[in-house]
Amino acid sequence: MTSKSAAAAAQATVYGYPRQGQNRELKKAIEGYWKGRVTADALRETATNLRRASWRQLADAGIHEVPTGDFSYYDHVLDTSVMVGAIPARYRAAVEADALGGYFAMARGTQDVAPLEMTKWFDTNYHYLVPELGPDSVFTADSTKQVAELKEALELGHTARPVLVGPVTYLLLAKPAPGVTTDFDPLTLLDRLLPVYAEVLADLRAAGAEWVQLDEPALVQDRTPAELNAAARVYRDLGALTDRPKLLVASYFDRLGEALPVLAKAPVDGLVLDFTGPAAGNLDDLAAVGGLPGKRLVAGVVNGRNVWINDFEKSLSTLGTLLGLAGRVDVSASCSLLHAPLDATAERDIDPQIARWLAFARQKATEVVTLARGLAQGTETIAAELAANRADLASRAGSAITQAPAVRTRAAAVTDADNRRSQPYPERAAAQRTHLRLPLLPTTTIGSFPQTTELRAARADLRAGRMDATGYEARIEAEIREVISFQEKAGIDVLVHGEPERNDMVQYFAEQLTGYLATQHGWVQSYGTRYVRPPILAGDISRPEPMTVRWTRYAQSLTDRPVKGMLTGPVTMLAWSFVRDDQPLAETARQVALALRDEVTDLEAAGTSVIQVDEPALRETLPLRAADRADYLTWATEAFRLATSGVRPDTQIHTHMCYAEFGDILQAIDDLDADVISLEAARSHMQVARELATVGYPREVGPGVYDIHSPRVPSADEAAALLRKGLEAIPAERLWVNPDCGLKTRGWPETAASLENLVAAARAIRGELPSHAS
Ligand code: GLN
Ligand code: ZN
Repeated sequence: MTSKSAAAAAQATVYGYPRQGQNRELKKAIEGYWKGRVTADALRETATNLRRASWRQLADAGIHEVPTGDFSYYDHVLDTSVMVGAIPARYRAAVEADALGGYFAMARGTQDVAPLEMTKWFDTNYHYLVPELGPDSVFTADSTKQVAELKEALELGHTARPVLVGPVTYLLLAKPAPGVTTDFDPLTLLDRLLPVYAEVLADLRAAGAEWVQLDEPALVQDRTPAELNAAARVYRDLGALTDRPKLLVASYFDRLGEALPVLAKAPVDGLVLDFTGPAAGNLDDLAAVGGLPGKRLVAGVVNGRNVWINDFEKSLSTLGTLLGLAGRVDVSASCSLLHAPLDATAERDIDPQIARWLAFARQKATEVVTLARGLAQGTETIAAELAANRADLASRAGSAITQAPAVRTRAAAVTDADNRRSQPYPERAAAQRTHLRLPLLPTTTIGSFPQTTELRAARADLRAGRMDATGYEARIEAEIREVISFQEKAGIDVLVHGEPERNDMVQYFAEQLTGYLATQHGWVQSYGTRYVRPPILAGDISRPEPMTVRWTRYAQSLTDRPVKGMLTGPVTMLAWSFVRDDQPLAETARQVALALRDEVTDLEAAGTSVIQVDEPALRETLPLRAADRADYLTWATEAFRLATSGVRPDTQIHTHMCYAEFGDILQAIDDLDADVISLEAARSHMQVARELATVGYPREVGPGVYDIHSPRVPSADEAAALLRKGLEAIPAERLWVNPDCGLKTRGWPETAASLENLVAAARAIRGELPSHAS
C-alpha cells in the first residue's frame, strides 16, 4: 500500500474513556448499591446509560471506532481476572452466589475475607487489583461482559473495538496467591491461559468484532529474554488462530524497546504505539525494524495522561513520517483517556486565557479527530484548527504565567552550593544534639492527627460561607491546642501541630503557590469509586507569602518542646499534580523547591528547629525503564536538597516516605542528605531498617513501629519488640521512634492509646540500653 492510500484511510480512535460520567454518577450509584440504597438493576442501568453517553460523545466528536470493554464497575484488571476465571478460592462461593456482590467483595474485602491487593498501574495514579495465581490456577473463559458491551455499542450503530488486557501483561501483573511460594512465576501458566483468550476472541468475533485490541503495557518495561520469548509465543499462537478477529497489540506509557521487533514480527494485524513523552523513541525504533508493512498502526500522538492541548504541527510531522512505515496509520491518544479528567469546558473558574491551553479527555478526542482528518484529507482541511492551535500554543509560550522573569532568573542562578547543607552530617548532628537536647530514641509522629468530622465540617462551612475566616481559624487553633496538650501529656519528644488546616498534603500548598491551578471538576479515578482532583502546575511557581508559619508558630507558642514544621516535598508536589509539558520536569521541580526553600527559611526564622519535608512519592515516579532512572533520581534528590539546604547546621531536617520497594532507591534516600528519615516499616518487620543498614546509611532513621493502616492498637510490648529489631540494624544514637505514617485517617481513641504505648516502648528500651546505664 502506498503512503498516499495509508493516509487516505486514516481514522480516529481511542482506547478508553473516563468511566464516572459528567457528575460522577457512577461513583454515586456504586456507593449507593454498597449501602443498599440502589438496587443492582438500577446500578446496571446507570452503567448502561453512562457507556451510551460516552460512546455518543466520542462518535459526535468524530471518533470512527469507539472502544468497548474499557468500562468497569471497579477496575479493568479485576474484570480480566473474572474474564479468565481467576477468582481466588476464598471468593469463589460468593461470586457464584452473586456475581456483582462477589465482584465488589473481591475488590473491597468483607468482614472476614481479605480483598485482593491493590497497586499502582505502571507510573500512573490509577490502582488495579493484583491477580492472585499459583501452580494450581486453572482458567475458564467468561466473555459475558466483553460480549455484552460490544453488542451494546454495535446495536447503537457504532463501529466498535473491544479492548482487553493482554495475556502477557495480565500474567506479569499477577502475584503468587497467599500460601504460594514467592518464587512462583505466573508466566508458567501461559499454556493454560492462552486457550481461554482464544475462546474470548472467538466469542467476540462471533458477536461482530472485526478488530480486538490486546493491551500489553507491561512490555514497555525492561523485560528478560524469557519474558520477551513468552510475548513472541503468545502472539505467534494467537495470530495463528483461525477463528479470530483482527488483532491489534497495544503498548503505552513508554517505548517498546526490545519488545518492538518481537511484536513487529508477530503474525498480528497491527500495533498501537505511544509517540509521546518518553515513548517518542518508538518513532526511530519503528523505522529501524523496517516499519509494519501492510499492517495497521494506531499512533498515539495526543498525550492521554496530561491536561494540555496538543501541538498539531509536531503531531502531523510524526504522523507524516509514520505514513511511510505502515500499511495504514490511524490516530489516537497515547493511552486510555481514563487518566485524564473528563471535560475542560466544565471549568468555569479558570481564567479563559489559560483555559485555551487545556485539553481534557473530551477535548483530546476532538484533537485526535482533527489530526486524523488532516492526515486523511490534507492539512488544508484543518487550516482553521491549525491556526487556532498555533495561536493557543503561542499564547501559552509567551504568557507571563509560564514565563515569570523573576522565577526564571532565580532558578537559573541556583548553584551547586545551594543544593548542599553548609556542614556535613556529623557536625550537624553534634550541633543538633546540643540545640535540641533530645533523649536517646526520641519519639515523634509523622505530622497529621485525626481529621475529625467536625474539622471537615468546619472546612465545608467556611467554603459555603456559613463560617467566617475568624471562626474557622479559632476552630483550627482549638484543635492545635488539643493536639499539643495530648502530645505533652503522652510524653512525646518532638511534637507536631497535627495539620488540621490541611485538606490534602499537595492541594493545601498548591492553593497557596502562584502558578498552580485548581479544577472544580477535574476528577480522575484513583481506585474503585475513589477519585482525586490533582491540581495543575500551569505556570512558573512562586510563593507570595508564608504558607504554614502561622500554624507552626502558634503550636510552638504553646509548648517548650520542639514542634516540627511540616511541608510536602517538591517531588511529591509534582507526582500528585498534572505537570507542565513545556519544560523539563527538573525545571518545574527546581521552581517548586525554591518556593519551599523560602518556607523552610521562614519556619527557621520563626523559631522552628525541626522541619520535615515529606517525599512519599519519590519511589512512585521512578521511570519505567532503568536507563532513565539515574537522570530522574539526580534531579529529584537535587530538588529536595535545594528545598532543605538553606538552614543552619543546628536545624534538623526530617523527611518521610510511605511504604515502597525502597531497594531500588536506597542510594537516592542517602542523597537526600536529610538528618532524619521516617519510613513505613511495621508490617515488614523493620525490613527497610535492615536494607538501609546494609548500604551503610549514615544518618538517623525512624522505621515505623505502629501500623496506622488499621484501627488496631499495638501493645507497648509489640512496639518494643519492633524497636529491638530496629536496634539490630541502626544504633541507638540514630534510631527514632514513630508510627508508620500520618494519623489523619485514624480515630482519636486508637491514636491516643497507640501513641501512649509507643512512648512506653521507647522508655522501656531506653532503660535497657548500656549507654543509659553507664
Ligand atoms: N505529614 C503527612 C501526614 O502525616 C505525611 C503523609 C504521607 O506520608 N502520605 O499526614
Ligand atoms: Zn506516609
